[in-house]
Amino acid sequence: MEKRNWFGDLLSHPKEVVTVHSVDDIVRVLTDSSKYPSPVRATGSNHSTTRCAVANEGTNIDMTGMNKIVSIGSDTVTAQAGALYIDVAKELEKQGLQFYVNVELGNLSIGSAACGGTKDSSMPGEWGQVASYVAGMKLVLPSGEVLEVTEAQPDLLQIMRSSYGLLGVIFEATFRIRPLQSMAVYHETFDLEDFAQSLPAIFGKPEAIMMYLWPFDNKITIEFRKYHDRNDRAPSRFVWWARNIVWKNFSPLFAFLVTKLVPIKGLRYFILDTFGILLRFSMNYILRSPHTSPTDQIIRYPEKSGMSRYTFSIWAFPEKSFLQTLRDYFQFCRAYYRSNRYRCNMLNVGYRIAQDQQSLFSYSFHEPVVSIDPVSTGDPGWKEFLLAYNEFCSDHGGVPLFNQSYGITQGQARKAFGDRLNTFEETRKRYDPQNRLFNHYFQELLSIGSE
Ligand SMILES: Cc1cc2nc3c(=O)[nH]c(=O)nc-3n(C[C@H](O)[C@H](O)[C@H](O)COP(=O)(O)OP(=O)(O)OC[C@H]3O[C@@H](n4cnc5c(N)ncnc54)[C@H](O)[C@@H]3O)c2cc1C
Repeated sequence: MEKRNWFGDLLSHPKEVVTVHSVDDIVRVLTDSSKYPSPVRATGSNHSTTRCAVANEGTNIDMTGMNKIVSIGSDTVTAQAGALYIDVAKELEKQGLQFYVNVELGNLSIGSAACGGTKDSSMPGEWGQVASYVAGMKLVLPSGEVLEVTEAQPDLLQIMRSSYGLLGVIFEATFRIRPLQSMAVYHETFDLEDFAQSLPAIFGKPEAIMMYLWPFDNKITIEFRKYHDRNDRAPSRFVWWARNIVWKNFSPLFAFLVTKLVPIKGLRYFILDTFGILLRFSMNYILRSPHTSPTDQIIRYPEKSGMSRYTFSIWAFPEKSFLQTLRDYFQFCRAYYRSNRYRCNMLNVGYRIAQDQQSLFSYSFHEPVVSIDPVSTGDPGWKEFLLAYNEFCSDHGGVPLFNQSYGITQGQARKAFGDRLNTFEETRKRYDPQNRLFNHYFQELLSIGSE
């Protein structure tokens, strides 16, 4: 059998694919290794850009059949693992509530959100990783036993929050939530040198900071977001609607078509750079409003990707040396283009994320970080570019995400996470001594065991 991730570039060849509808279904799969061979990998929406969910010769547990919201309280929501983040967020919004972290990918499944890497720019005083707000989860262990982990077991919960389905299959998770609050958003564009001058003031603002980066134009557009107490006006839906349409459909489709139809690279990138000028103008002058709903940031992507699909990769860098890293990255992109005639046909983005030790593989475990995420329609040369980018990132003290940073090596993972890999591996061996859930991808990265 062949399964592809949402973007379509990563293949998995499981012997069995089982769409589960109950806890008993999951128990049955995990306890019958003759019918359901190892490795067993659960999938939600299969949006990951790495091989984290690949189950070659093994079993894929498709969680999308378990998609109910179990309960909504004043400060928590509990949902089944296959529920989509956007569906839960919309239900919360109806009740005057919201998630803390409103990631752009609405197709993110609750199971993956609870145990995998995610990012959005941190609102002041808050974290930027969805799993950091997990208050509890229920999972089926490889032995078939059901385990509930709560905030009463902080060390175990910290490991579970970045367990990527290697300790068990999550069927239900509870997240901390908050009252819905009106949010202002606006954008400003800087030249690299202006940005360098203004950086202390920019990072000093009590606002969430996300960036659009244009290495070939030396430009940075910042999206600022902040909550405010005036909840008395209906939110403007236009700003996020327009951003979402452009980001989800128009921008990748345009990049795809220009890349396909304009083989002369000078002309191709002239057109794409001109499009970038238009985007920056629109962001600065149109995408701003003092009253929006945080939930509107979340995008529902089509179930099957089409011509407007895009992909990306991400590493996070220490905030204290980010300016130098950014300068070097712009140089790196130019040098790479000069020697390889390849550059990303979409822009790059970046997120400022607070220090966060809520999960073991948090990429901001030691300090606040800012990410650099190249984005592309995956045209020829993309994967090779990412391998060079990985080296650049690792050399600059970057930290990757196991589900969103393509092509990382064991050495890069070890450099980024150090002893935390050992801590995880000790726990993993306790919960999964037979390597029932351990696929080739994680074996290589953790560098222990064999498939
Ligand atoms: C177009 C696009 C836009 C994106 N935008 C963002 C963004 O703005 N912010 C962001 O943070 N990320 C973003 N992502 C990345 C995405 O959030 C992550 O890759 C996420 O893991 C995808 O969720 P999923 O449900 O598809 O997980 P999958 O890819 O299905 O699984 C991810 C991992 O979780 C494991 N897993 C899944 N379900 C379970 C379960 N029930 N129990 C145990 N383990 C499980 C899988 O085995 C795998 O290791 C984007 C991806 C794409 C393609």
